[in-house]
Amino acid sequence: MSLADRLKAGPPSRRTSVCTVSTVLDQLDPGDADALRTMLHPESGWTGTDIARALRDDLGVPTTSQTINRHRRGDCLCNHAATTGADA
Ligand SMILES: [Zn+2]
Repeated sequence: MSLADRLKAGPPSRRTSVCTVSTVLDQLDPGDADALRTMLHPESGWTGTDIARALRDDLGVPTTSQTINRHRRGDCLCNHAATTGADA
């Protein structure tokens, strides 16, 4: 992301009730967000390690396979937020 793009996207979210995966999905353009959702599907063939590496290498997002796998299992805070209707 260029600095100009970052400026357009607005200040970083201060929400702390969501995990990195949800934050990234919110910030990606629709095509990349769809790609990430497809990667996150349990049967996509992508491991948590693969996805974490892609986020780091392609997007510069510091994340780990543990974060990805927690999100996939639904153990993350953003899953809880989604079930309570706090976030889309
Ligand atoms: Zn999550």
